[in-house]
Amino acid sequence: MLVSSLVSEPHHKIWAWIFWVTVGIILISPVIFWLTGIGQNAGSLSAELARQPDGVLLSSPKAQAYHQLMFPMRLERMLIYPLLLLSFQFSGGAVALRTFIEKQIEAGLLSPFRKIFRRWPKRWRQRLTPANLLTICIFILALNLAIFLLYLPYNFYRGFMVAHQFGLSTQTVIGWFSDWSKSVLIELLIAIGTWTTLYGFMKLLPRRWPLPVGVLMVTFLFIFTLLTPTLITPLFYKVSPLENGDLRTRIITLTQRAGMTADEVYTIDASSKTTEVNAYVTAFGKQQRIVLFDTLIDSYSPDEVEVVLAHELGHWYYHHVLLSLLGIGAVGWLGLFGLRWLLDRLWPWLGLRSPSDIAGLPFVLVLVYLASTLSLPVENSFSRFGEHQADVFALTVSQKPEVFILLFEQIAEQNLSIVDPPAWEKFIFYTHPSIAERIHFAEQFQTN
Ligand SMILES: [Zn+2]
Repeated sequence: MLVSSLVSEPHHKIWAWIFWVTVGIILISPVIFWLTGIGQNAGSLSAELARQPDGVLLSSPKAQAYHQLMFPMRLERMLIYPLLLLSFQFSGGAVALRTFIEKQIEAGLLSPFRKIFRRWPKRWRQRLTPANLLTICIFILALNLAIFLLYLPYNFYRGFMVAHQFGLSTQTVIGWFSDWSKSVLIELLIAIGTWTTLYGFMKLLPRRWPLPVGVLMVTFLFIFTLLTPTLITPLFYKVSPLENGDLRTRIITLTQRAGMTADEVYTIDASSKTTEVNAYVTAFGKQQRIVLFDTLIDSYSPDEVEVVLAHELGHWYYHHVLLSLLGIGAVGWLGLFGLRWLLDRLWPWLGLRSPSDIAGLPFVLVLVYLASTLSLPVENSFSRFGEHQADVFALTVSQKPEVFILLFEQIAEQNLSIVDPPAWEKFIFYTHPSIAERIHFAEQFQTN
């Protein structure tokens, strides 16, 4: 078999060396970010926005410090994560892990699962043996679990320590770890489901697998989005109906004015975890749900809550969720054909046995990661456009531009937003228009 120089012995060693360096960086970087002292200093900084004499808004010192810490952390992850996976692939680590799992299975790990496969058609059993399927599942589990554990210090520093230093989190350590375990569990189940389906079909239908995998992928995407409010959200928050009262009446009236027939408003106890505010509206057919963070109800005026909700209703009105699901589904499906094309050509070069060898998963993950990172500017410009549409809707329905302006100033202070980021940063990373742009638009709306 023709195996390119990239996976030959001397290169193995270089890649293995790169692999351990990336592991080291991921483990040590939280300490380095901690040593900068930016986080420890945060408590003494003001979170208030300032206005220049000419009226230009300035981000708070606290928001600037937060950005100064978060931005390099984000860049580090963007660069190191794909390098970790690539070096695991090219050093021969992935192939070694697959071979190790196969040996364990041969040694008897499989016997309890044999019965399940007796009913499969013979033709299928030859292409996808029980041992194949189990190897695939265990490989996915081992790889993903290792990544979760490796990133645990980084995520704990970022999601717990820094969030506390900047006053963004109200969570206890136990609360944080309990949430972390739950999301790891959910993500592991999704990873095993996704990649087992992909590799299973690659073996069963070596040419036509992108068709069934695409259908299943899109179906799952819709079902998951549909079930998230009723199945996933309650795992992390207490969801309860909003008490009868003035606010509830105002919200119901607003939804009716926007053309929606929601008869229940829910709140979630976000204040047990965070100081950030949010709200969302989900609607699929008859199931229409309005959910408000309790942090929003507690610290914002009913007028401001109404504007937030009007924005969320804008997303509902323009079918933004449905459109983004269709977009992701279509691009993802095309991506599957691209993946087949690449794997059919590159598998010998990666030291794999075939395109459907599970040992190629780290490389596939890098491709998915690169594709989603490179498409970020395009995806985010669609997102910013949708957010602007929702802002226009909110201003039109509520007719309260002065409340809108106050609201976004308060949100910028509370969420530590950079008011007016550089254009290139906005172009790549921002899913929403900047606070400055949103306020500026409301000011224009006011004068018109
Ligand atoms: Zn929005």
